[in-house]
Amino acid sequence: MLGRILEYLTAFVHLLYPRLCLVCGEPLVTGERHVCSGCLLAFPYNYLGGGKLERKLNRVFPVEGVYALFLYHHGSPYRKIIHALKYHSRKEVGLWLGHMLAVKFLKDLELDVLLPVPLHPKREASRGYNQSVLIAEGIQEVLGVEIVKTVLRRRVNNPSQTKVEFGERTCNVENIFQLIERDSLVGKHVLLVDDVITTGSTISACLRELSMIPGIRISVACIGRAIAN
Ligand SMILES: [Zn+2]
Repeated sequence: MLGRILEYLTAFVHLLYPRLCLVCGEPLVTGERHVCSGCLLAFPYNYLGGGKLERKLNRVFPVEGVYALFLYHHGSPYRKIIHALKYHSRKEVGLWLGHMLAVKFLKDLELDVLLPVPLHPKREASRGYNQSVLIAEGIQEVLGVEIVKTVLRRRVNNPSQTKVEFGERTCNVENIFQLIERDSLVGKHVLLVDDVITTGSTISACLRELSMIPGIRISVACIGRAIAN
C-alpha cells in the first residue's frame, strides 16, 4: 500500500517537475535515468586504444591503456552531460557515468587502486566536490577497488578545462601536481581517473609525478574525450 502511494507521489512530482534528458532536453519516462532511451541508444561510446593521445602519454610514461566512455565534438549535445556534472552540481551523474565506464570498458583490468585527478583545494571548496572522485566512486561500485586521494596534490589552480577545451591552453601545466606520498603505490596497477581529456597535458603532468614511484603500472580512464573538430 505504502509502496503504491509512493509510486503515485513520485509520478505526481515528476508531472510537476519533469526530469529531463541531459542530452536532448525531453522529459524522461519511468525507468530512464539522466538520459532518454533514444539518446542512450545513440550514445557515442568510445574506446581509445593506441591512438595519438596514448602515444603522447607514452612519451611521458608507458601507460597500460587509455579508456574514454565517449568521444565528443564541440557541437555535440553529449557534452551537456559533462556540464551537468561539473557546473550544475549533478553529483549523481558522476556516479552513473563512472558505473557505465566500468561496465563498458574496465571490467577485465586487474586494478589495485583508483586515483582520481585532484582539483586545486580552492576549486574543490567552491564547487563542493571533485567530479573525478564521484566518477571513481561509480567505478568502485562495479569493481570494488580502493580509491586513493592522498598521493597527488594540485599546486596550481589552472583555468577550467572545459572552458578552454577547444582552444589553446594558455598556462603551462607541466608542474601543476606534486607527489606527496609514494609508498602505498609501489608496484601497484593504478587507474588514473579524470572527467575530460582534451590535450592530455593534465594527465601527462600526473604521469610525470607518478613515474617516480618504483614498479608502478598506470592505466588512464576518463568520461569524455573532447576533440577539436
Ligand atoms: Zn534524450
